[in-house]
Parts: sequence; structure tokens; C-alpha cells
Amino acid sequence: MLGASRQQLTAWVQTQDQPAYRGQQLHQWIYQKGIRSLSEITVLPKPWRQSLADVPVGRSQLALRSPSQDGTVKYLLRLEDGQIIETVGIPTAKRLTVCVSSQVGCAMACDFCATGKGGFQRHLGRHEIVDQVLTVQEDFQQRVSNVVFMGMGEPLLNLANVLEAVRSLNQDVGIGQRSITVSTVGIPGRIHQLAEAKLQITLAVSLHASNQALRSQLVPSANHYPLTALLADCRDYVRITGRRVTFEYIVLAGLNDQPQHALELAQHLRGFQSHVNLIPYNPIEEVSYQRPRGQQLQGFLNLLQEKGIAASIRRSRGLDRDAACGQLRAGHSSESQSPI
Ligand code: SAH
Repeated sequence: MLGASRQQLTAWVQTQDQPAYRGQQLHQWIYQKGIRSLSEITVLPKPWRQSLADVPVGRSQLALRSPSQDGTVKYLLRLEDGQIIETVGIPTAKRLTVCVSSQVGCAMACDFCATGKGGFQRHLGRHEIVDQVLTVQEDFQQRVSNVVFMGMGEPLLNLANVLEAVRSLNQDVGIGQRSITVSTVGIPGRIHQLAEAKLQITLAVSLHASNQALRSQLVPSANHYPLTALLADCRDYVRITGRRVTFEYIVLAGLNDQPQHALELAQHLRGFQSHVNLIPYNPIEEVSYQRPRGQQLQGFLNLLQEKGIAASIRRSRGLDRDAACGQLRAGHSSESQSPI
């Protein structure tokens, strides 16, 4: 049910010999009241309501809620088949952003990312993506303003379900397309496919390196998708959608944070309608990369800006709960987290 549009719900109630307006009722109770079973919809006639008790709405169970000192909350959610995913709620003064997962695990195996260390389990259905946003909205008792597909998984490998979830988040939950960001490491052919969907969402591309050699060392899939081809596809995205592209660049001390890397990056992005987001590396257990010093990071940013490249530093949230970028992995827990 979750992820279904008003029209789809209306069509469905009619197959149940019910009047069309019951579709609107279902829609309201699913998306606004957050029901977990159709039997909770008290405005429905009792016999029908009872017969719907076993029709799944598609909500997950909260397995763990882990608040950070900075207000960020990480959730572990248990899906119907027992798989666990992570979602993060990130409040700021004016916004509530949800960082959603698009897959259980991830197949991309980027060397610096915790999710990639656990391998890929399965794609998430559209309802499992929409559920994450409703869960955070209900917990914070505040409307979600922004959604970023920056949790576990590679969204463009699950593009059909991601596009359905985006439609539902936009039209059923009421989140503006411009407030939705899909982040990808880049999958050949898929950026074009996303552009052809002609949405007003933001595309974020995990670049992380200023040349092909360094990138394929950090991001194994880059071996099959040269940097020049990826950037050409990003230009194509800007041309088709009229939206600028965000480039994410994890800064790893001593590895990709030297002045020559900033200059090389600036060269690639000259005249490109884009924005560079510098993300200081967040430590994970398996690898020994280093977080850059503040001065080095600032120097890198200054160089980019001197070359006319729009750029900023992304402040990491939720670090103390392993809820920051690249730190998401299912089933992780520590003593201070209490199960619900
Ligand atoms: N697969 C998609 C979606 C995941 S987004 C993608 O790669 O874009 C996760 C974001 O966090 C990406 O920008 C990713 O590169 C970044 N990230 C991963 N590991 C990180 C780490 N250890 N420190 C900081 N950022 C990290």
C-alpha cells in the first residue's frame, strides 16, 4: 500500500466493490495518520475494515533509536523479512532532513565506506523507502522538509523503485522535488535515465578524486566508468534538467587533499553548473585513512573558490553514533544504545 498514489488507491478500492472516495480515505490515513494496519481506519465500514486486517500497509518496525548529542537520530528499522536498514534524521534550525537507504547493504565496495564492507543483500521496495521518511516524521513530530538518498546502497542500481519512491514522497508525503537529492557513485547509462525522468530533484555525484587513477583506487566501480565519461553524463544531466549537479568529495588526509588535486578538480569543473561538497573523511574500523586537519581542508576549499568553483564544506552530523556519511551499517550497536 505504502508508495501507492491516490489514483492507485482509488482503483484498488473499486476492485473491492467500494466507492471511489474510500481511496482518498485510505490515502489520508496511510500518509497523514501513519496507520500501521488498515484495520485502524475507523471511518471504514466495520465488515470491510475487518476483512482488510491482513492486507499489509508496508511499515517497518523500529528496532533501535540512537540519538546523537547534536540532535541527529539514527534508526535501525526491521523490514518484513527481518533485514535491518539504517535511516538518519538530521534536524537544523529550519529543516528536518532524512537520509534514506535505497538498498540493504551495497555492492559498490568503496574502500572508505562502512556499508560497502558488508556487501549487498537486496534492493528496497518503494514502500520501504517511503516508510523511512514517515518514521522520522512521526518520531520528530515535525514535517520532513528534505530527503537525501545518502544512506545505505546505490540508488541508481535500484532506479525503478527509487523513482517510484520519489514520486510518492513528492505527491503523497508532500516533499518538494527540489528538496530531494539522489546521491550516486555513477552507474553507466543511469544518470541519463534519471535525467530523462525530467524531475526537479538534485543529483549528487560521489566524485572523491580529481583523476581516474586515484578514483579507481578508492571507488572500484570507477574502473568500468572513466571519470571523463562520468563528467560528460553529468553535463548531459544539467542540459536536460536545467539543474546543477552537486559533486561530493571525501577529503582523505595526504591522499586527495593536496593543492594539485584542487587545481585538477577545478580544471575538470570549469564552466560547469555545479557545486562541490567537501566531506572530511569519517573514520570507519576497517581502513586507516585519516581525517584532514582543518587548515588543510580550508586551503583546499580556498583554492577551488579562487578558481571560480562553487564549493563548501559539509559539516558531519551524528559522528558519535556512527550515523555520519559512510558510517552506516546494519546491525551495528554499542553499549550506550538501548533496544526498543
Ligand atoms: N552510493 C551512493 C549513496 C551513498 S551516499 C553514493 O556513493 O553516492 C554516501 C555518501 O557518503 C557518499 O558521498 C559517500 O561517498 C560518502 N561517504 C562514504 N563513506 C564515507 C566516510 N567514511 N566518510 C565520509 N563520507 C563518506
